[in-house]
Amino acid sequence: MYIVQIASECAPVIKAGGLGDVVYGLSRELENQGHTVELILPMYDCMRYDHIWGLHDAYRELWVPWYNGRIHCSVYCGWVHGRVCFFIEPHSQDNFFHRGCYYGCNDDVMRFAFFSKAALQFLQQSNKTPDIIHCHDWQTGLVPVMLYEMYKYHGLEYQRICYTIHNFKHQGICGNEVLQATGLNRPEYYFQYDKLQDNFNPFALNMMKGGITYSNAITTVSPYHAWEAQHTDISCGLGHTLYQHRDRFQGVLNGIDYGFWNPESDKYIPYNYSTTEFAQKSYNKKALRERLKLADSDKPLIAYIGRLDAQKGVHLVHHAIYYAQQRDAQFVLLGSATEPSIHSWFAHEQEFLAENPDVHLELGFNEELSHLIYAGADMMVVPSNYEPCGLTQIISLKYGTVPIVRGVGGLVNTVFDWDYDQLHIPEERNGFVFFESDNYALESAMARAIDLYNLNPDIFQKLAIQGMEYDYSWKNPAQKYIEIYDLIRHQWL
Ligand code: ADP
Repeated sequence: MYIVQIASECAPVIKAGGLGDVVYGLSRELENQGHTVELILPMYDCMRYDHIWGLHDAYRELWVPWYNGRIHCSVYCGWVHGRVCFFIEPHSQDNFFHRGCYYGCNDDVMRFAFFSKAALQFLQQSNKTPDIIHCHDWQTGLVPVMLYEMYKYHGLEYQRICYTIHNFKHQGICGNEVLQATGLNRPEYYFQYDKLQDNFNPFALNMMKGGITYSNAITTVSPYHAWEAQHTDISCGLGHTLYQHRDRFQGVLNGIDYGFWNPESDKYIPYNYSTTEFAQKSYNKKALRERLKLADSDKPLIAYIGRLDAQKGVHLVHHAIYYAQQRDAQFVLLGSATEPSIHSWFAHEQEFLAENPDVHLELGFNEELSHLIYAGADMMVVPSNYEPCGLTQIISLKYGTVPIVRGVGGLVNTVFDWDYDQLHIPEERNGFVFFESDNYALESAMARAIDLYNLNPDIFQKLAIQGMEYDYSWKNPAQKYIEIYDLIRHQWL
């Protein structure tokens, strides 16, 4: 099959979050399984050019209709760790992708509406005829709309669309000007409930809703999040729309790249280990303690790695630090906060706990240290408010670090409680789960984990090894996507 991914990110060249990892990881695995994949991305000024090989101009005369005129674009081609990527660079005074950032500009909706149109125009002008176009999140929500309403009459008649939603929080809310700019026009047609009209504001359009209503298949990043999106308020107003399109909507769990996240070969950790040499893990714990100047002792070491914000349950993260102290455990936190109030809160805690031999708080983003923490910690807490898929628990499992998670989103699909899971036999269980978003629920799960570690270390080790044996690579998710592509290939919308 010939698949084109249209996205606003692709790791490591353009990465703001999990979306970039998914676009790269899925593309790589699809190619490993014998398919042809090409990616179309914006040519940002601030992307990591050092991760692109052989960048050359591939198409000089791309003219993209925009309002009543046309914008001239160049298309560059290069390889990002083996993936063929086309980067679109518009030459206009808007400087859509020369902003020193990927997102966060006032005209983001226009920037990505333009990118979506340019990507389709590029496919059409260069006579590319993929079987499947896979697009992602609100930034490319207009791709299926324009394909169905315009480009199918201009040579893209047989292309089918899979649309993946990574985060419902940002939906691309916009007004009539997007219709005028892209040439969709006809506001009376698009401002309808079954088209692009926002479910909250009848005078606004919603690009993500467009992606949902016009795609042949819609996915989100875990099966449980797909359920939550239809039946709770987690999808920020799109629940009913998803429910209406439920026969085309499903969750496919993300994978991780075991070439990068693998304790057997990880270059960032001093002692590599596997399920059969699990004892080596304890040397990494020692190395972690030395690096962070923590006391050497028999205490369990609990960690948190992740953004410090409301989504991640930041109040519970804070409580976990102090509860660990109360239960005689050590705690390491590696986190970054974009919100100034949260940053200063944790900066204050960092200062307050600076001399404590059992706690270390590291604020900022540090890839290398994160690997050592995954390898050195005994347990990882993930107390998220909501979590579409979540990677920290999946990485922790691979490193034999037992996850203690809140039962939401993808955490439900990946972590199975040692004491209470009803659907998995004890040999298949791999962590601890709590459900309520309060201190008592968190404490009860942490207490069970700490008690098992202290009172039954052999069983705790068995649990950690059971987690390592799970396969959360891209192999299975990619097969699922291939099944979806196969299903929609011969369908009309
Ligand atoms: P998100 O909602 O942020 O995408 P995920 O759990 O899906 O959360 O992915 C988080 C990824 O970012 C993981 O690979 C984690 O190791 C990494 N990460 C998060 N915060 C940090 C940090 N401060 N330093 C290093 N890596 C981090």
